[in-house]
Amino acid sequence: MNIFDSRNRPKLIDQITQSEYDILIIGGGATGAGIALDAASRGMKTLLVEKGDFASGTSSKSTKLIHGGLRYLKQFEIALVREVGRERAVVHRLAPHLVLNEKMLLPLIKDGTYGKIMTALGLMVYDVLAGVESADQRVMLSKEETIKQEPLLREEILEGSGLYAEYRTDDARLSIEVMKTAAIYGAHCINYLEVKDFVYTDERVSGALCHDYLSGKDITVMAKQVVSAAGPWVDDLRVKNDSLEGKHLFLSKGVHLVLAHERFPLRQSVYFDMPDGRMVFGIPRGKITYLGTTDTQYFGDKDNPRTNIEDVDYLLNGANQIFPNLKLELADVQSSWAGLRPLIHEEGKSASEISRKDEIFISPTDLISIAGGKLTGYRKMAERVVDEVAKRLTQKHDLTLKRCFTEEITIKGGGFKDSADVITFIQKVAEELALYGIDPYQARYLIHNYGQQTDQILEIFGEMTQKNTESLALAELQFTLEYEMVHTAMDFFSRRTGRIYFDIHSIIVLKDLILNALKAHFDWDDARYASEKAQVERIVFEASNFPPRHETENVPTS
Ligand code: FAD
Repeated sequence: MNIFDSRNRPKLIDQITQSEYDILIIGGGATGAGIALDAASRGMKTLLVEKGDFASGTSSKSTKLIHGGLRYLKQFEIALVREVGRERAVVHRLAPHLVLNEKMLLPLIKDGTYGKIMTALGLMVYDVLAGVESADQRVMLSKEETIKQEPLLREEILEGSGLYAEYRTDDARLSIEVMKTAAIYGAHCINYLEVKDFVYTDERVSGALCHDYLSGKDITVMAKQVVSAAGPWVDDLRVKNDSLEGKHLFLSKGVHLVLAHERFPLRQSVYFDMPDGRMVFGIPRGKITYLGTTDTQYFGDKDNPRTNIEDVDYLLNGANQIFPNLKLELADVQSSWAGLRPLIHEEGKSASEISRKDEIFISPTDLISIAGGKLTGYRKMAERVVDEVAKRLTQKHDLTLKRCFTEEITIKGGGFKDSADVITFIQKVAEELALYGIDPYQARYLIHNYGQQTDQILEIFGEMTQKNTESLALAELQFTLEYEMVHTAMDFFSRRTGRIYFDIHSIIVLKDLILNALKAHFDWDDARYASEKAQVERIVFEASNFPPRHETENVPTS
């Protein structure tokens, strides 16, 4: 059975309730997805449950970089920088269409945090720790070369720059493709199924009571080992398990703003100093440039962190300092997103000082929880968790399991030799679509999102009577319904396609078409249609309308 076909959900739920799994993973973000792939490929009978849509938590709201975290060098987090730095090349190799090379420019500013020598040294250490190949290693640029590389930079305060290698991705798509890859190894993954409580046998967690938001029913799932990869919600589950002791989470909100590329025409990704000494990325991507992030302790609703007017002012002011000719204003912000970092609390440290290291907690009743960490390190985090699970399963249940080999497993949609191979495919698809007058942007968009699976979308498109951008979007929807477990309009507009961030105008154009297609597919009644429509409109509105902080976050007064 194709478990990712949204119409197979009732059958999947039946199978889930009738099975006992080796491992139940709570949370369908990058961390849970990585664990599902690692566990299933080693031979564990695997179930992953996600309370909302896949990647609807932090894993669709990051800076979308597969990066080593240059700034962590400043905090002497050598092991973290080495691990995630090295992982970049691995994830790129496994999915070169989705994890793209992205050179980053680090401008050297008069009286900035670091001088030329420290920056050159830092970038060298970064390259060495991450094992960057010589052709891709950093270069230091003079002031003139820097201006040539990025003419928008403020010339009078510039002393030069460092240009170094990073990668960029789509976090939600990466998480979903990793889950789809896990399904190839037999994993069951399901969205809109929330763990409400745990089931215990002989004082050990042996399953979970779950609520299915789509049918309204409650079900019980059983597993030899339960792992919580619930990101910002990890402590909520530890409370349900009566095991929230010692270390706990510290939630930090990070906001990104999206501006039209014409309005913010960056040629080159830039990692620049803010007036308060923090650093922020400016990243051009297709039709837009995005800017972020902030880093503030968060006290509001975890299910709906919002971008506040204070966040917008902070980021625009910082950008205007370094790109002064742009004179960016509130009205230029066409979309935004806000995500929560599930960090591990450290006494006396501010949000940006806290380590990004991951940690595993094991409760007295054997609930394994993992929190912290980076999107970039999802594979190594998964390996550590699954090593722990494998140890327990082999000791207690006499299972024979393989060792971790996710480094060799091509991520769904991959299968390209290298980046050049991806470009050749884009050119081929662009030529094909040009026959129908469709913009080459669509070819780049499809291949960077779906990789080799673009062929399946084009096959559906080929069967359509009309051949235009709208029918291409309908073909894309059909693909995501059959192969990516889409259940709502926002599943499509946000986690599958990234349109809410990178092409918000297309939602306005396509909204009715997509809603009507979903209505027909799922046989929605008028009330469901109206609530889906209202949901899309609310989310589009919230992406570009910003309340003051005190309205959405219960910031303590003392
Ligand atoms: P999540 O993605 O939040 O997944 C947890 C999931 O668990 C959620 O989807 C939630 O709905 C689900 N869940 C919770 N409770 C339950 C329950 N009871 N039942 C079922 N499901 C449940 N890292 C990088 O490598 N590069 C970057 O550029 C980068 N930038 C970042 C920028 C920002 C602003 C932020 C906030 C983070 C950034 N990170 C970055 C870090 C990275 O995004 C996170 O480390 C990663 O996405 C965390 O994934 P996760 O799966 O642990 O959490």
